[in-house]
Amino acid sequence: MRLIFLGPPGAGKGTQARLLASRFGARHISTGDILREYAAKGNELGIAAEGFMRRGELVPDRLILKMIGAELERSPHGFIMDGFPRTTAQAEAFDALLAQKGVVLDAVVVFDVDRNTLMTRLTSRWTNPITGKSYNAITNPPPGPGMRDADGTELIQRDDDKAETVRRRLDVYQQQTQELVQYYRLSGKLFSVDGLAPVEEVTAQILSKIGRERAAS
Ligand code: AMP
Repeated sequence: MRLIFLGPPGAGKGTQARLLASRFGARHISTGDILREYAAKGNELGIAAEGFMRRGELVPDRLILKMIGAELERSPHGFIMDGFPRTTAQAEAFDALLAQKGVVLDAVVVFDVDRNTLMTRLTSRWTNPITGKSYNAITNPPPGPGMRDADGTELIQRDDDKAETVRRRLDVYQQQTQELVQYYRLSGKLFSVDGLAPVEEVTAQILSKIGRERAAS
């Protein structure tokens, strides 16, 4: 299984990637998660990437591609890319890397979601500032009265989850992805799923499109 997932934050890419990766033994490669882990560990790449990430800018391709090269070496049973490629230049470099390794991409899955619904979803997250546990005011409301945790701790909205920031993240995504979608559409490997459908339904849509329905049971 060799897939690329494209979709805005909150569209369910991570959930599907984790599910499919564990079912098929493929590697879930979330570039954002890996970079955050590297930064926390303080290794060379993490330190180099940290400033860009803090400013919400893209980390330079040279660093990202080095990381992707290393991740592919650790993916003998395939991969699901989540957060990479972000630009057409990265997509071209990735194609070259795959060709060099004699590896063929199965498909590129676009997670379609309505922008207003996404705004509501993403701005509904409330976090316990002490434990880091988060709730969703709509789908998973906190147990306490008002926006409070079970022990009475007042929940907060992280900067990331505030309307203004969410709007900006979605704009950046849209800007970057339009061109990428066009790039992969030309390869004939692109298809869309309804990111707002129930989790099992989205999984079924993906498996059906890549011809793996039978392996899903
Ligand atoms: P994410 O968790 O996917 O939103 O990524 C968090 C941050 O990591 C981004 O804002 C970028 O700074 C960086 N990042 C993640 N993936 C890439 C990529 N493919 N290219 C460049 N920067 C990236």
